Amino acid sequence: MDPSTGEQLKRCPWLRKTPKQEVYTCDIYLDRPDDCKFYPVTINQMVEDECEMLEVQDLANSKRAQEKLNKIMEDSRPPYEP
Ligand code: SF4
Repeated sequence: MDPSTGEQLKRCPWLRKTPKQEVYTCDIYLDRPDDCKFYPVTINQMVEDECEMLEVQDLANSKRAQEKLNKIMEDSRPPYEP
């Protein structure tokens, strides 16, 4: 939310697109909120957000996909166990 107008922002104000490249960066990466550090927590969250990192086999075996996601994120957050 924009603190000066109270309007809902369309995207995070810390997100930057590098000039002449299709690369996005976070201006506060080292100090980003925990929600950002922990994302994505679940495979369902990735499905809901239409994450392009999902693979067909992840959808076919979401339990195995969650285990892989937990492994990838082990330095960032505790494992998610439904
Ligand atoms: S990581 Fe978080 S704070 Fe950084 S650009 Fe993305 S949404 Fe914004």
